Amino acid sequence: MEKTFAMVKPDGVKRGLIGEILKRYENKGLNLVAAKVISPSLDLLQKHYEEHKDKPFYDDLIRYMSSGPVFAMILEGDNAVKMVRLLNGPTKIEDAQPGTIRGDFCTNTTFNIVHGSDSVESAKREILLWFPEYMNK
Ligand code: ATP
Repeated sequence: MEKTFAMVKPDGVKRGLIGEILKRYENKGLNLVAAKVISPSLDLLQKHYEEHKDKPFYDDLIRYMSSGPVFAMILEGDNAVKMVRLLNGPTKIEDAQPGTIRGDFCTNTTFNIVHGSDSVESAKREILLWFPEYMNK
């Protein structure tokens, strides 16, 4: 069964959307296999967003992701990586249709409430980064 890493970002946690978002993943048929509320360190965020370090939005992104706790999770199910990305909706907010999490709950491309790994390889890397205790079990 495929696993993916997903996260409710600080704005989603502050707005009390953890339950709503988790319900959407579970309704789809994904199972929660690990979860925690965590205030990520700068080091963790820099590693997580390494591929974006030269992008113009990088500093805003790190500041945003440091602005409060996140809800980090490992979800499991058929095509889990793709399913979470579909439920989240596209990164570019103008393209996020109603019915997706981003389409229903946000208006901004940076402050976009959720994260989902973009490939099986990224999911493995991100699970190791965010849940080292799970990988060592
Ligand atoms: P995530 O990795 O959070 O699931 P994603 O895979 O849809 O999002 P990425 O391209 O990996 O998007 O970008 C990571 C994050 O950086 C986005 O979720 C968003 O918060 C921010 N971001 C991406 N592109 C832009 C942009 N053009 N302008 C502002 N912020 C952006």
